[in-house]
Amino acid sequence: MDLYEYQAKELFAAHGVPTLPGSVATDPNGAKAAAEELGGPVVVKAQVKAGGRGKAGGVKLAESPTEAREKAEAILGLDIKGHVTRQVLVTEASDIADEYYFSYLLDRANRRFLAIASVEGGMEIEEVAATKPEAVAQVPIDPIRGVDEATAREIVEAARFPASIADQVADIAVKLWEAFVAEDATLAEINPLVSDPQGTVLALDGKVTLDGNASFRQPKQAELVDEGAEDPLEAKAKAKDLNYVKLDGEVGIIGNGAGLVMSTLDVVAYAGEGHNGVKPANFLDIGGGASAEVMAAGLDVILGDSDVKSVFVNVFGGITACDAVANGIVQALGMLGDEASKPLVVRLDGNNVEQGRAILAEANHPLVTVVDTMDGAAEAAAELAAGK
Ligand code: ADP
Ligand code: MG
Repeated sequence: MDLYEYQAKELFAAHGVPTLPGSVATDPNGAKAAAEELGGPVVVKAQVKAGGRGKAGGVKLAESPTEAREKAEAILGLDIKGHVTRQVLVTEASDIADEYYFSYLLDRANRRFLAIASVEGGMEIEEVAATKPEAVAQVPIDPIRGVDEATAREIVEAARFPASIADQVADIAVKLWEAFVAEDATLAEINPLVSDPQGTVLALDGKVTLDGNASFRQPKQAELVDEGAEDPLEAKAKAKDLNYVKLDGEVGIIGNGAGLVMSTLDVVAYAGEGHNGVKPANFLDIGGGASAEVMAAGLDVILGDSDVKSVFVNVFGGITACDAVANGIVQALGMLGDEASKPLVVRLDGNNVEQGRAILAEANHPLVTVVDTMDGAAEAAAELAAGK
C-alpha cells in the first residue's frame, strides 16, 4: 500500500525524522483555516499517490490564508497522472537552501535492501541517475545488521553530503531505517530532503510503500487505508480474501493457482487479437481449495464488473479434484441465481476430469459451455466477449 505524503511524513515524525507541521484540508476554507493556524507563508500540496506533483501544478506557495484558500481551490479537483486531488496538505513553507535525496528500498533482485542518496535532490532520482549517475550513491544494506551509526556514515560519505550537515543526515538515516523496519515498508523516500539557510535538515516530501504481506502484524496500519480511493471490486475481493486484480478488458478470468491464471491471461489476450481485441478483465486466483463458496465469491466479484462480457473458468484439478470443482461451479451458480447473467466457458483438466465434465454436462446450465482445451476455451470466451 502506498501512503499519501502527509501520512508518510506523520510516520517519519513518529520515528524522529524531522518534518514541518501541517494539516490536511478537503475544501478551500479548510485550507484557509489551516494556514491561519500555522501562521506565516504556507505551501498547499495536492495529496495524490503520484509523483511529480510540483511539475503538474499541485504544489503552490501561499503568502496569506486568503491566498491559501485560492491555491487550494486551484489544486482541489486537479488531475495528476490520472489521480484526482481530493485533499491538500497545508504546511509551513520552508526557506530552502539545498535539496537532497534519500531513500531505502527493498532490492528484490539482490535479496537485500538498498540505500540511495544524492546531493542532487528535488527532481526525480531516475532522471539524476540517467543524466548524472556519479551523483547517485547506492549502498547495499544488510538486512540483519540494518543501518547503524557506521552504515549511516558510510551512506553520507558515499553521497558526499556537505560536512556541515553530515551529522544531521546520518541521524536521519538511522531514524528513517528504524521507521522502515518498524513499519514493514518496502520503500521510504525523502525527495527533497532539504537544508534551510540556518543549516537545519528536514524531510519536505515523503513517499512510503508498506508491505501488504505484513499487514497481519501491523493492525494500526488499517487506519491508513483510503477506502474511498480503492477500486470497489478490488475492495470487495479483498473482503472475501480473494487474490484479485482488476484489469481493463472484457473477459473475466477465474483459475486455481497463480501460474495457471497468469498463462490464462496470456492465452485470452492472444485469442482476443482475433476478436475485436478483447482482453482479460481481471486476474483472479481462487487457490488450491476452490470450494463452492470460494467459487461463488469469485464469480460474484467478476460478474459484478460491468466491463465483463464473458467468463473463462480455467481449473486444473490437483489435490482438489475436478469433480469437486465442478460441483463447486454448479453450486456457485445456484447460489448466485439470477445474478449469474454472463456466459461462462469452463475448462477442466487433471485429476478426475471425466467425473467433473460429467457433472457439468448433467447440470446442463444454460450459461455454461465446457471446452476441453485451454486454447479452445480462450477462443470461445474471447468470441463470446466480442459478441459474435
Ligand atoms: P513532488 O515530488 O510530487 O513534485 P514535492 O513535495 O517534492 O512534490 O514538492 C515539489 C517541490 O516543491 C519540492 O522539490 C520543493 O522545491 C517544493 N516544496 C515542497 N514542499 C515545500 C515546502 N513545505 N516549502 C517550500 N517548498 C516546498
Ligand atoms: Mg518530491
